[in-house]
Amino acid sequence: MSKNDPVTVTTATRTDAQCAAAVQLARDAAREVGGEFVGDPLGMRGEGERLVTHLFASTQPGYRGWHWSVTVARAPRAKVVTVSEIALLPGDGAVLAPAWLPWSERLRPGDLGVGDLIPTAPDDDRLAPSYVLSDDEGQPENDLGIGYGRVRVLSRLGRDELSDRWYDSEAGPESPMAKAAPAHCMSCGFYVALSGALGRIFGACSNAFAPDDGRIVSADHGCGAHSEALVEAVPIGIVPPVVLDDGELELVSTAAHEPGSVEDGAETEPFGHG
Ligand code: SF4
Repeated sequence: MSKNDPVTVTTATRTDAQCAAAVQLARDAAREVGGEFVGDPLGMRGEGERLVTHLFASTQPGYRGWHWSVTVARAPRAKVVTVSEIALLPGDGAVLAPAWLPWSERLRPGDLGVGDLIPTAPDDDRLAPSYVLSDDEGQPENDLGIGYGRVRVLSRLGRDELSDRWYDSEAGPESPMAKAAPAHCMSCGFYVALSGALGRIFGACSNAFAPDDGRIVSADHGCGAHSEALVEAVPIGIVPPVVLDDGELELVSTAAHEPGSVEDGAETEPFGHG
């Protein structure tokens, strides 16, 4: 063929007969990698000119639905078929790991361990720069002056999200504990309301005997340790000790009248002789 001969590009490819016949070669190659877990042939696929892929079942436990894929090739005008590639690939119905997610989307509450750090994105929309205020009149961040308070504060979106989360949690009004409670936290002496807008519906429980001690509870949550649920009565029969308050003593005369003669018509007094 001279330099100027036209070049014909063939797009349609036929399965090469010698590559297609190289099933045993492909299987032996797969067994070098997969050993006894290379199963029966599943078929073949023409990939291009003198390029064929043979497929074999995988019998390896844990790889159900996977198959061995061995691609063989032959050089132009060569009679020898060689192995190009061996891979274990998932087929339809293969058990696969979940799709990869960045760590920020995989992270779940409770994943943070001692010493771990979780970066907060600069544009996290749960936060707003404190110099634009937090949209919460109860949290006047700029009282301290720009640069002295917190750099960022909760945004309205951040407050809305946490309100939903807390209200729907076990510390909200729908938990079994709250439904069985004799009264709501709102009327409990151990309820310490939060400051700012969140204080309208949330506070902290400060009762050491309550399951939510030290946690945020909604005002309409409640539990059996409510301060007024059972007020201990003073047992009958036990008289409280008498307290003598000197400051409250009032001195009174035991005589019915000033010393001296009894006035006319007044009742005479006994002399103590019975
Ligand atoms: S003791 Fe019970 S009712 Fe009182 S604040 Fe705590 S959770 Fe609410």
